[in-house]
Amino acid sequence: MANQSKQAKRLREQARRNQLIRYQSGEPCGNGHVAERYVKTNTCVECLRQWRLNNPTKIANYAKEWQSANRAHLREYHRKWRNDNKERWSALLQKSYKTRRAKKQAKQ
Ligand SMILES: [Zn+2]
Repeated sequence: MANQSKQAKRLREQARRNQLIRYQSGEPCGNGHVAERYVKTNTCVECLRQWRLNNPTKIANYAKEWQSANRAHLREYHRKWRNDNKERWSALLQKSYKTRRAKKQAKQ
């Protein structure tokens, strides 16, 4: 990774103090993107976006691993969400019911 200028370092530090997730360094990354960077890792947003596009299986595997390691957390999170979003949840259920029924009828 190319060394950042004092200016870019100062902008990152400022963003960290303001508890921002991303900041604009104004300088190109190693791959020449002049894009925002993540404050925590200093990763270029554009590089990460391209990496994600090129590695869909890795993303899916990370997600699966995380989900199986955090089952209890997810169960609680979804329970709370359903409780806080009763109308949206019942709309989703209805939609899913209708889709399934339509598929079933299409098969017959
Ligand atoms: Zn980049």
